Amino acid sequence: MDGPPGGTTPITPVIKAGWLDKNPPQGSYIYQKRWVRLDADHLRYFDSNKDAYSKRFISVACISRVAAIGDQKFEVITNNRTFAFRAENDVERKEWMQALQQAMAEQRARARLSSAYLLGVPGSEQPDRAGSLELRGFKNKLYVAVVGDKVQLYKNREEYQLGIGITFIDMSVGNVKEVDRRSFDLTTPYRIFSFSADSELEKEQWLEAMQGAIAEALSTSEVAERIWAAAPNRFCADCGAAQPDWASINLCVVICKRCAGEHRGLGAGISKVRSLKMDRKVWTETLIQLFLQLGNGAGNRFWAANVPPSEALQPSSSPSTRRCHLEAKYREGKYRRYHPLFGNQEELDKALCAAVTTTDLAETQALLGCGAGISCFSGDPEAPTPLALAEQAGQTLQMEFLRNNRTTEVPRLDSMKPLEKHYSVVLPTVSHSGFLYKTASAGKLLQDRRAREEFSRRWCVLSDGVLSYYENERAVSPNGEIRASEIVCLAVPPPDTHGFEHTFEVYTEGERLYLFGLESAEQAHEWVTCIAKAFVPPLAEDLLACDFERLGRLPYKAGLSLQRAQEGWFSLSGSELRAVFPEGPCEEPLQLRKLQELSIQGDSENQVLVLVERRRTLYIQGERRLDFMGWLGAIQKAAASLGDTLSEQQLGDSDIPVIVYRCVDYITQCGLTSEGIYRKCGQTSKTQRLLESLRQDARSVHLKEGEQHVDDVSSALKRFLRDLPDGLFTRAQRLAWLEASEIEDEEEKVSRYRELLVRLPPVNRATVKALISHLYCVQCFSDTNQMNVHNLAIVFGPTLFQTDGQDYKAGRVVEDLINHYVVVFSVDEEELRKQREEITAIVKMRVAGTASGTQHAGDFICTVYLEEKKAETEQHIKIPASMTAEELTLEILDRRNVGIREKDYWTCFEVNEREEAERPLHFAEKVLPILHGLGTDSHLVVKKHQAMEAMLLYLASRVGDTKHGMMKFREDRSLLGLGLPSGGFHDRYFILNSSCLRLYKEVRSHRPEKEWPVKSLKVYLGVKKKLRPPTCWGFTVVHETEKHEKQQWYLCCDTQMELREWFATFLFVQHDGLVWPSEPSRVSRAVPEVRLGSVSLIPLRGSENEMRRSVAAFTSDPLSLLRNV
Ligand SMILES: [Zn+2]
Repeated sequence: MDGPPGGTTPITPVIKAGWLDKNPPQGSYIYQKRWVRLDADHLRYFDSNKDAYSKRFISVACISRVAAIGDQKFEVITNNRTFAFRAENDVERKEWMQALQQAMAEQRARARLSSAYLLGVPGSEQPDRAGSLELRGFKNKLYVAVVGDKVQLYKNREEYQLGIGITFIDMSVGNVKEVDRRSFDLTTPYRIFSFSADSELEKEQWLEAMQGAIAEALSTSEVAERIWAAAPNRFCADCGAAQPDWASINLCVVICKRCAGEHRGLGAGISKVRSLKMDRKVWTETLIQLFLQLGNGAGNRFWAANVPPSEALQPSSSPSTRRCHLEAKYREGKYRRYHPLFGNQEELDKALCAAVTTTDLAETQALLGCGAGISCFSGDPEAPTPLALAEQAGQTLQMEFLRNNRTTEVPRLDSMKPLEKHYSVVLPTVSHSGFLYKTASAGKLLQDRRAREEFSRRWCVLSDGVLSYYENERAVSPNGEIRASEIVCLAVPPPDTHGFEHTFEVYTEGERLYLFGLESAEQAHEWVTCIAKAFVPPLAEDLLACDFERLGRLPYKAGLSLQRAQEGWFSLSGSELRAVFPEGPCEEPLQLRKLQELSIQGDSENQVLVLVERRRTLYIQGERRLDFMGWLGAIQKAAASLGDTLSEQQLGDSDIPVIVYRCVDYITQCGLTSEGIYRKCGQTSKTQRLLESLRQDARSVHLKEGEQHVDDVSSALKRFLRDLPDGLFTRAQRLAWLEASEIEDEEEKVSRYRELLVRLPPVNRATVKALISHLYCVQCFSDTNQMNVHNLAIVFGPTLFQTDGQDYKAGRVVEDLINHYVVVFSVDEEELRKQREEITAIVKMRVAGTASGTQHAGDFICTVYLEEKKAETEQHIKIPASMTAEELTLEILDRRNVGIREKDYWTCFEVNEREEAERPLHFAEKVLPILHGLGTDSHLVVKKHQAMEAMLLYLASRVGDTKHGMMKFREDRSLLGLGLPSGGFHDRYFILNSSCLRLYKEVRSHRPEKEWPVKSLKVYLGVKKKLRPPTCWGFTVVHETEKHEKQQWYLCCDTQMELREWFATFLFVQHDGLVWPSEPSRVSRAVPEVRLGSVSLIPLRGSENEMRRSVAAFTSDPLSLLRNV
């Protein structure tokens, strides 16, 4: 006989079937012949082998025992009932009993695996609906359960719980339709089941549940069956529920419906959930193979390597337990097996590049899950990414895995806090496709024109946050791809910059630049808009409202938040720089041509672009070199003068051209008392050179006393004004001004000047005022400079009116304007008073001989204290970008005339009063960035480092550069600095090595509870008293995460020596063994060129030399110091 119709599903193949005699029901002696069938889940018996629906089924899970009872009989014993069967012969009986026992054993093994046995419910699947229904032909109501793709019929609820039912209907052949208000039919090719519910509402619910079962049955189980062929895939990777028919295609695990729901809640950045049965298109042969090779086995060996039993999931776990577990498992990676290279990004990336060329998929999974960069640069331009490498090696499964993980976030232990960062916001889904012309990606800015031949035609697809480019539109795997989340900048060069009329540049976090080209302006614009939308978060979408030449994100410091750099979004269009900062109000665009200062500070490795506007200063940090250089060039270009007219100049404060401002400022500071100022001429060649550089970029020209003669500067200013194409008073109005000077009535004349002044363009008006105000100052010093109003008028009349000097009227206008300066320009008392004070101050400074060169905004003047913070020890000092802590220290000592004796370890400390902690700066640390980071509670103090000698001795005496031991530990749990910190200090075991500080719960722990990269830690001596540190030898460790979140830990040692040893080790590993300056670094210290003002250079005194000698002796022979002790 062929297999029976229906009844079985392909996933539960029949193990054994045949005729058996079943013991008679009570009261009868006649055995009944039954067709009996056993599959993995059920033992069923039918009236005949042609029946589709059983008379009875017994869940294999509920069978407790099978026993032989003589006469070829055997018993199937459940908790509550016993079924007896008689075989035809002993062989037959033996076969049945063996088959049953094996099915039971397998069922138990599965149950143990899936923990389903804990449920007490046969089968681990929860019903979608269960309850009483009337079924025509049955006297009593039946208990009906809709489970997955089946409708199960039980005599009553008790039997349902016992796992002994009548039959079940495979809904792949079922159909339901309502009959009347409460009744509906379940139709199958073999039989019609006519049900009646208690109410119309219930009927609706039953219909819905059964239709769901049909949908599930009809969803192809072909994929599921294939994936379940690997045993571990038959149980949910997370909770162990049987027959999981969902999957996470990036994590490569098979999961149950309930877990799938929670996976979805994690977001697609963590888990991409697909159905094995319904998402048919997803399941390519490659993906199925990948699941057979990785799947739940490998997945859990990595993700669930360390699950404490108390945190394990059961199929019955509540949704909230499930959520917690899955968050911990996949978002935080809490239970994962740590790769030996964990924490070493470079090595991880290298290992990934190696792994993807092999068949070792588990290694790739482990590396990605431990932070290897999926699009790290392989070093091979031919195959720059791991994906390209895998393709080159022909590893299609690796490729599939990488592709599915291209947008997966790396698990982070510290991601418990809500993800408030803007780029974790789900970006809007933008998709676009078409042909683009593309050049090979570059690692530096494109200096020259790229010819048309250098571009290749590529089919490009932007979707799901990834821009992929393919050989052609039919290609299956992309040549490469750029994740939107990695795009840091998008730039649109002017038309015709390259061989293609329209081009755009895409900059990535990995410092690559991609150039794309197109013929049509509209298409290029469309692509630019789509890419911009794909990588700009909603927070900054205002920037998309207008066209831009450059758009992207950059670390910046501004306003009140100078403590830490944050990531802001910027767009450049024309000479306007728009910015959106994650914190703080919406900002007015910066007018780049009106900046007071635009300069670059810092060294070549750590550049900071400083933009100073009237009331705000913005620091843009060059963390990533490539896009920063792009921004730098674009901003400088946008900030430059456009042409020769006054309003096209770089404009400074109050609309005055920077060129005028620079000269006037310099003369005010250095030339007011110079005899014949503005009358005397400078050297022609020097004047010309100066004017040229001012015209090129006035902002970058810093006039310094001693470098420029005042007469050269005054001549340059006169030349500039004389050469203005339209003149200061404009060609159109020049005559009117000259005529006004002839009005005899003084009052009438002044009001006429005022009238004319209003008619001037704003920049001209502001410049006239600034210039006359300046000349007003100059004549105040006529006793010394011999330039009274009349003399100034003789010089400036022809200059400003561009006349030959014969027309006396020009001079008269200037004379009038200076004489009536206060009235014509409506200068109020306050303004005048300030101006006088300024002049007085300048005079005083000059008299005192302390006047420095011009002060330009952006120089940092900082207060540093000597030994302790009080008014008498204050020292104000300008901090050039190149200044190191050591230079600062020596300079303060020099200014205060402090001699340095041997073993005086003078050091600059950063003192944080709020935290009651201080950090001795390393001698080579740059001071300026620290200054940027100082909060209002912090200051710098130069004092002796009392522990330095002990630390140097310790370092010299010990072996290796690691330290481990117990310390008392406390974490700062207060959120946002609010609320009281909770918890106290606890004993923890620490290991500090050259890369990490690791915290273990105890000495024997294998896995660190926490670990921090040592180079990004700042270690402060001291712990604030409010926290009740258990000893007075504590230190505070501050860790700033990549996302600029500050975390703080407090550690206490038992002895002072312990503290010094830990601290010394920190210094040693953070600074590659160089803790105190050695002789060469001190001697070769070049005179810093940027040193400003009259600050003297660091003197070399005998006492300092003595110190150097001792340090030198120490470096060559550490023990020599010991002899002195
Ligand atoms: Zn599950």
